[in-house]
Amino acid sequence: MSNRTFACLDCRKLQRKPSQRAVAVICPHCRQECIVVAWKLHVPAPRKRKKWDAFWKQYLLELRLIQQKRANPHMGSMYLPLLNQYWV
Ligand SMILES: [Zn+2]
Repeated sequence: MSNRTFACLDCRKLQRKPSQRAVAVICPHCRQECIVVAWKLHVPAPRKRKKWDAFWKQYLLELRLIQQKRANPHMGSMYLPLLNQYWV
């Protein structure tokens, strides 16, 4: 089974774990649910604060846009640079 990356944004920590689709990964430090990072996406090291912040800002934006697009398929086409996805 391949590993995936899980992130806790509050603790600024990454975990690598085998992917378990149905099971949420809980942060060992703060017990919050971690965010799953899309397959093959490179996450900057947490100590590189600016890059880390910029990455998560964009990633969460793109996840939000996908949710909006699913809720409203007529909202027009969009390109998500981080996920490298084009939605029409
Ligand atoms: Zn945490």
